Amino acid sequence: MMIVDSLVSAALLTATLNIEVVQPVDDKKTAEIIEWINSAADNVRLAYGRFPNPDAKIIVIPTTENSWGSDSAVIFGRVTRRRGETVELFVNPDRPIAEFYADWTATHEFSHLMLPLLSQRYRWISEGFASYYQNVLMSRSGNYTPEQAWQRLIAGLERGRDSRPELSLNEAAANGIRHARMKVYWSGAAIALLADVELRRRSGGKESLDSVLGQLQECCLPSRRRWSGPRLLRKLDTFLDTPVFMPLYSQYANEDGFPDFSPVLGDLGITVQNDGTVTLDNSASLVHIRDAISVQQ
Ligand SMILES: [Zn+2]
Repeated sequence: MMIVDSLVSAALLTATLNIEVVQPVDDKKTAEIIEWINSAADNVRLAYGRFPNPDAKIIVIPTTENSWGSDSAVIFGRVTRRRGETVELFVNPDRPIAEFYADWTATHEFSHLMLPLLSQRYRWISEGFASYYQNVLMSRSGNYTPEQAWQRLIAGLERGRDSRPELSLNEAAANGIRHARMKVYWSGAAIALLADVELRRRSGGKESLDSVLGQLQECCLPSRRRWSGPRLLRKLDTFLDTPVFMPLYSQYANEDGFPDFSPVLGDLGITVQNDGTVTLDNSASLVHIRDAISVQQ
């Protein structure tokens, strides 16, 4: 945070979000960045119709020196929860604004606000749900085509499946993200996909991951507590007549390997070609669910 300390901060309150663009960034780019932040927040509103925490603070921190070796517009993001929820986005203001809109990082970080803080052992749930939502929400908003979104999601799931197959999901997260990054980021995305499709399938579209997380927000967020994974998933199941989340947890969380996502891709009509591109088959049995997930309704 030394960058912040050495510069003058300019806070700008919008109707709904508290956005701060740390200076120096020229006026034109500052205005463009604020518009982009609001657009990324709109992406997340596509989950259940409102931003998960309207009192969250969003701080955009310009940096061109980056130790991550990234030349992206958005270099890095994180959520901190010391006094209220703050989303920090480290950006390269020299990149064209179009690159900001094409970048998933802000949508990923804002999606984290749909869940409470989880203890480290269960971070595969928070990272996974955010990794799932970054793709489906970028698709619903039109920043990705559905093909691009599914391709990115599946590429992530495959990286996760190939990462540290000898560890269970809970072990992978407990060991620290650095040791099993892809498993931690994508195993929970597989669980999110499986839960979302199952909820939509059995309720005829009345229930979804979106609707359940909307209920969680209504009852319990923002939360000052650190939750365990089972506590969160049990809570989500209380919104349902028949549980979905704890059965998936019991099946996968303490087992090695990776949640099996292939059958559900077949039902959704999603085929991965040899070159990694995705084709969407509109005659598959759950096409309506695929569209409900990845196309704005
Ligand atoms: Zn994350």
